[in-house]
Amino acid sequence: MREGTVFDIKKFATHDGPGIRTTVFLKGCALDCWWCHNPESKNSEIEKNHSGGHLEKSFIGENYSVSRLFNEIIKDEIFFEESRGGVTFSGGEAMLQVDFLQELLKKCKFHGLHTAVDTSGYCPQENFVKILPYTDLFLYDIKIMDPVLHQKYTGKSNELILTNFEYLISRNANIQIRIPLIPRFTDNETNLSAIKTFLKPFRPLIDIELIPYNKLGESKIRRYTDKLENLQTQSKKRLQELRDFFEI
Ligand code: SF4
Repeated sequence: MREGTVFDIKKFATHDGPGIRTTVFLKGCALDCWWCHNPESKNSEIEKNHSGGHLEKSFIGENYSVSRLFNEIIKDEIFFEESRGGVTFSGGEAMLQVDFLQELLKKCKFHGLHTAVDTSGYCPQENFVKILPYTDLFLYDIKIMDPVLHQKYTGKSNELILTNFEYLISRNANIQIRIPLIPRFTDNETNLSAIKTFLKPFRPLIDIELIPYNKLGESKIRRYTDKLENLQTQSKKRLQELRDFFEI
């Protein structure tokens, strides 16, 4: 049976798709965002945990077989049913372990669970082809529209991400766009206007969710530079202005 590397499992998640969900974080990510709050999820290998706290696990990441992970997910089936929730695969970048992910999604669909995949969109298009039939919802990140700035702040151009998004649209996938609001980096007028313009033709087909900047976990940011100092969570007023701007 195929194995995959899991970074974390969060039960009773309420922000990763509809209802109550179990969110499974798979390890490994091809991007290198300056603001990443989970830098230990980026490396696809299991790593020794050097943080030293005796409550911490000795290793970051754990190998799971498809059946062991599925058994963990299905334990909360009753909560999924009652809340119209399900399971969400996130990361790192879940799409990088695509064969493992595909088997899990198939198994979850076979048992009638609602499935969501939270993705940066940065992976070969064939990976989307593999999982599309078993994925009820894609939570799809759009971060920065300018390809040069995207390259600078995430380590990769956004060309593949935008092409994969258009592929999913062409296949009538159910998509919710997620925009992480990182002050100055993504949350600036030029960028948000460019995202709005890009999404306009698809707007009746997709939902947009704005993800406010989360100061918690800031201490884990590896690339802590003066540019990342003093970033503030968006105020309620600013969030409402942005919701109005995107007509959410
Ligand atoms: S895509 Fe997500 S997990 Fe990957 S580096 Fe960026 S913030 Fe971190």
